[in-house]
Parts: sequence; C-alpha cells; structure tokens
Amino acid sequence: MEPGKRLLDGMRGRINESVLKAMARVPRDRFVPAQLRDRAYEDLPLPIGFGQTISAPHMVAIMCDLLDVRPGMKILEVGGGSGYHAAVLAALAGPEGQVFSVERMPDLALAARKNLQAAGIAGVTVVEGDGSLGLPEHAPYDRISVAASAPRVPEPLKEQLRVGGKLILPVGETSQELVLVTRKNGFAVEEKMGVIFVPLIGKEGFGERQI
Ligand code: SAM
Repeated sequence: MEPGKRLLDGMRGRINESVLKAMARVPRDRFVPAQLRDRAYEDLPLPIGFGQTISAPHMVAIMCDLLDVRPGMKILEVGGGSGYHAAVLAALAGPEGQVFSVERMPDLALAARKNLQAAGIAGVTVVEGDGSLGLPEHAPYDRISVAASAPRVPEPLKEQLRVGGKLILPVGETSQELVLVTRKNGFAVEEKMGVIFVPLIGKEGFGERQI
C-alpha cells in the first residue's frame, strides 16, 4: 500500500472523512526538504530548517477536524512553516474559499510559496509578518488556525474572528493545551488535549529572549 494512503487509513474512524479526503489531495512529500522525502508519510514532525518543523500529520488532522472547516470559508493560518497545513485548509475550503497564511521567517515564507506552487495548490496567500497580531486587512475570518504556542489567546486573533467563527491554537510554554475558541455573543473556550508546539514569537506571543 502507498505510504500516504496507509497513513490516512490509520486515522480513519477518529478523523472526519472530509479532512482525510483533503489530506489525500495534498502531497506532503512536496513540503519537506528533499533529503527527507522518503519520510514524508511517517506520522512525525520533521525539520524544515531554521529550527522549525512541519507538524505531524495526525496533529494537522486533529486541528482541521476540531476547526470544522467548510467549503467557501475565509481562513487565517498563523505559522505557515512549510505551507503544508495551509494547503490542507485550502483543500477543505475548496475553490470558493480563501486561506491567508502568515509566517514570521522570510526564508520559510518563500519556501512555503514554492512548495505550494510545486504541489499545485491554489487559494493560499502566504504573507510574511507577525501573525500573533493576525492579519487585520483581510478580517473577519471564519476560521483561524495557529501552529505555534502562545502565552495566552491573543486578543487581535479573537477580534478578527467572525461571530460564529472558530479559532484553534496551542497555549502554554512548558505545558501546552490545544484550545478551541468559538465566538458567539462572547467567546467560549474549550481545552482539548495536551500538545507540543514551537513557540509563537511576536508582540502577542513570546519574546525572543523568553525561549
Ligand atoms: N503549519 C506549518 C506547516 O504546515 O509546516 C508548521 C508550523 S511550525 C510548527 C510553526 C511556525 O510558526 C514556524 O514556521 C515559525 O517560524 C512560525 N511562527 C512563530 N511565531 C510566529 C508569528 N508570530 N507569526 C508567524 N509565524 C510564526
């Protein structure tokens, strides 16, 4: 069996079919460094340079599943890294959807754009900047997904969420929780599971010296 198929089959029953279908459309081997391509379908985070990692496939699956992304949605991703998670979000949002992915490291933003193009993924705009402040020029968003751990839920991200919208992010430093925030009249906050992510570095994240 193809390694990509085996990986997704292993998640069947635990992850929504729409997420598995979206992941099946995104070739993860296009988003890892060439020397790690043969390991692209192992369920592990892998180094992508600059001390950063592409998240493990099961973590991308869990986050997309909890976020409940529907076709046509406008989505903000913070922590673009390789561009892989943004590509899966774009596959879920479909041709009518829009994904903006913010990455603070210029070299990674550039690599993410190249990876997305090589993988033939449309609908993702990679923006270089401090995503802890969100991306106000395109707000409000139906969904926001953050791939780096914040000290607390950043206020700008809450403000840029549409009413009825959802935000998923890891919160914490040594001990981190994956948190789902739903905007209704106020903000409902649910802690989902313990996780391990690299820190969100920025104005509403950790300072460079704190890590
Ligand atoms: N989603 C990525 C993927 O699919 O490859 C993996 C993300 S990696 C776990 C976390 C990323 O968040 C790193 O690339 C890091 O540079 C980025 N990051 C950290 N703080 C950030 C910030 N304030 N704004 C934008 N990106 C940030």
